Amino acid sequence: MTRRIIVQKYGGSSVANPERIQRVAQRVVETKRRGREVVVVVSALGDTTDELIDLAYQVTHQPSERELDMLLATGEQMSVALLAMAIHTMGEDAVSFTGAQVGILTDGTHTKARLVDINAKRIVEELAKSRIVIVAGFQGVNLNQDITTLGRGGSDLTAVALAEALKAEVCEIFTDVEGVYTADPRLVPQARKLDTISYDEMLEMASLGAQVMQARSIFVAKRFEVPIHVRSSFSLREGTMITKTVKAMEDIVVSGVTLQKDEAKVTVRDVPDKPGMAAQIFGELATNGVNVDMIVQNVSREGATDLSFTVVKGDLPVTLRITRRVASRIGAGEVTTDEGVAKLSIVGIGMRSHSGVAARMFEAMARERINIEMISTSEIKISCVIRRQHADRAVRVIHHAFGLGRRARRR
Ligand code: ADP
Ligand code: ASP
Ligand code: MG
Repeated sequence: MTRRIIVQKYGGSSVANPERIQRVAQRVVETKRRGREVVVVVSALGDTTDELIDLAYQVTHQPSERELDMLLATGEQMSVALLAMAIHTMGEDAVSFTGAQVGILTDGTHTKARLVDINAKRIVEELAKSRIVIVAGFQGVNLNQDITTLGRGGSDLTAVALAEALKAEVCEIFTDVEGVYTADPRLVPQARKLDTISYDEMLEMASLGAQVMQARSIFVAKRFEVPIHVRSSFSLREGTMITKTVKAMEDIVVSGVTLQKDEAKVTVRDVPDKPGMAAQIFGELATNGVNVDMIVQNVSREGATDLSFTVVKGDLPVTLRITRRVASRIGAGEVTTDEGVAKLSIVGIGMRSHSGVAARMFEAMARERINIEMISTSEIKISCVIRRQHADRAVRVIHHAFGLGRRARRR
């Protein structure tokens, strides 16, 4: 008999209170009774992870990352136990596990650990006993047996990785919206649910701010071609399938609009216009683990040039420290920061084969008098840095300009 394993992941809002936990339990039990072996990955209840982080910062300005992981992992441990109990009341056998217990091995990078291996032996044994297996999302263990976490939104990664390890027929991601939309439905009420989206587009959208899936989880899903179904835990409707290829892909120029508000811009003035300057600045930032996003260098005048780049806001203190040090060493001028920016992006595979997409985006911004401060493009995306105060409006404007709304056809 072929085994039919399903991995279901329920996000924090899906298990925010006891009633919701019971609803999730019901859904899990129904899946089992339809003849599937079910592995469930759960996030911490509601906003627990944020609350735990707040707590840590009330105790200290600089919590140890190892201890942060120890603390944050407790959130998911609560939800797995509660879900198992709720399933027991429905007459099914369920057993809950931490990441460590089911062999989710990571490297030692606390708070954003990378998966090294999953030894699914214990899960397979429990499934064979006809039990529902519930695994704490977002956490693993390193070679020293220290608890690690996989970065924010990391339960998605746990689910995708388990689906791959168990060769599950599908990885269902249950969340508080009905699927992946053409833009964040909270920001753009007209946003339309996509029936399907390719891994490549979802990876870009997730990396560029679409919170609905963690970017790293899509990276893994793409590599191993894990089929993902993003859907609502509050309805039975079909959601969005994330797969390798999508019908009529080339006809879809733009699939979605995304926004990142946690960006900050750094400018180094009067950088000497000679070889090796950028290498020194960005080399040192990279050595210190700072991920630089967009870079713009102005045309040089009188032997000096201004250099601007963006980083995520959280990295701003370390970025400033390093950049000021390098600037003074290479004889550059002042280093300034600007936290009032946001990055707006459009993503679509059809950009590979259609021209005029950037022009259309810029024209729409111009009509609304929204100034573009930086631009970067890749094969399937265009990003613009703009003032944060215009960001929400800009998303709606661009969404409309590409005809992505509910009644309009995607162009
Ligand atoms: P969970 O707790 O279930 O993991 P998240 O809060 O991480 O849920 O992700 C779901 C949220 O992602 C939605 O509530 C929605 O506001 C946001 N979101 C942002 N962009 C998109 C998009 N393009 N499509 C769907 N949801 C999006
Ligand atoms: N609870 C973790 C977070 O809030 C992991 C997750 O929800 O995916 O980031
Ligand atoms: Mg999430």
